[in-house]
This record gives sequence, C-alpha cells and structure tokens, in this order.
Amino acid sequence: MADKLVYSSKINKIRTFALSLVFVGIAIMYVGILTKKIPWLMAIFFILGMLSVILSCVVYFWIGMLSTRAVPIICPSCEKPTKMLGRVDACMHCKQPLTLDKDLEGKEFDERYNSRHYRRELKAKKKHN
Ligand SMILES: [Zn+2]
Repeated sequence: MADKLVYSSKINKIRTFALSLVFVGIAIMYVGILTKKIPWLMAIFFILGMLSVILSCVVYFWIGMLSTRAVPIICPSCEKPTKMLGRVDACMHCKQPLTLDKDLEGKEFDERYNSRHYRRELKAKKKHN
C-alpha cells in the first residue's frame, strides 16, 4: 500500500486558507508600521494588508455559500454529521474519504474525481475497452 495520505475536507481547507489570509494581512500591516518613516511604503503595506483581510472576508463569504450547497451526511466511519462538497470529499472529523458516487465506491480516493474533465476522460476510456 502506498503511504496513507490524510485528506482534510475541502471546507476545512478553505477555512484554514481564509484564516491564514487574515494573519498575513495583519503581518503585512505590521511591517507597514515598521516602515512609517517612509510614508509611501507604509501606505503600500497598509493597502496590501487591507486587501488580504478583505480577500479573507470574501473567502469566508464564499465558504458560507459553499456550505449551503454542501450535502450534509452522517459519516459512516465516526458517525458524526459532516458536509460533503463535490463527489468526493473527506469527513471533517475523522478524515475518512467519502463519495456520493456509487461508481467510485471502494476506489482509491482521488480529488480528480471532482473534475468534470477527468470524469469525461474516464468515460471515454470505458467505451474504448
Ligand atoms: Zn468521520
């Protein structure tokens, strides 16, 4: 068996990304304070920092939108409620790979199954065989 990769659920991944954006934004603004002797440089750092924080707000909003579209399910592995995005995702609590697609059941977890292009390729392959 190949190394067991731990997949975190997509919503958690995006949330982590948004949170890190906030910290990056604050860090950039902090650098801005350090360069206050050079007003134009400070202004640039502040604008970049603000943009980063605003972007994280946008990402948080986006997560909210995604969450409403996610399918709530009970994880078969840990029996906690979780949400799925797309056809394959991982449980938020125990990282158990999950799928909504019966065809993919038992197959190795692959995020590529979420891409329409990849699925079309698979179908084309099936026809050839
Ligand atoms: Zn679980």
